[in-house]
Amino acid sequence: MLEMIKLACASCGASLEVAKDVDHLACGHCGAQFVVRRSGAAISLAPIVEGLKRVEVGIDRTASELAIARLNRELVDYEREGVAAETAARLSAAKARNASRVAGAIAIVGMLFMLAGVVGRVVANSDYTTKLVIGLVGIVGGVVGIRQFNRDETAARQSYETKRLALYDKISHVKQEIAKHHEIVR
Ligand SMILES: [Zn+2]
Repeated sequence: MLEMIKLACASCGASLEVAKDVDHLACGHCGAQFVVRRSGAAISLAPIVEGLKRVEVGIDRTASELAIARLNRELVDYEREGVAAETAARLSAAKARNASRVAGAIAIVGMLFMLAGVVGRVVANSDYTTKLVIGLVGIVGGVVGIRQFNRDETAARQSYETKRLALYDKISHVKQEIAKHHEIVR
């Protein structure tokens, strides 16, 4: 005759009769599975599923801690990328702006040449054609240059703006991921 002990199911509370040497059992009412724990005279039921869940949570925590470290590195990379893109954009824009100023100066010199040509023609009847040609070339070249360099400056700014927005998206996504993992680690 087996020695039986009475225990209450730790899940549904139903009373269970168990052979004394049993290590594992499933509740006949709710199906919950238990490990029978003995410590001296005391006998208790430890739910197996809970134990597994704890292991899962442990694995999740470790995975999340690793993910947070990785995501933080990604954040640093993106922020560095942003700073580099901003510096490059500032440089391109400044170069284009300076080139545009030089083109403006050339256009002004062209205008002065034309003025000198016209004045010389009127006052001293000197060579009009050479000064006119130099003046025209200066004005046209200067204006074309101003337009082109202004477009370059705008392009540099727009390209940076696009990059900045894309990086912003990536950074907020990573920050959301980090927040989610912090929920698990906590
Ligand atoms: Zn039960």
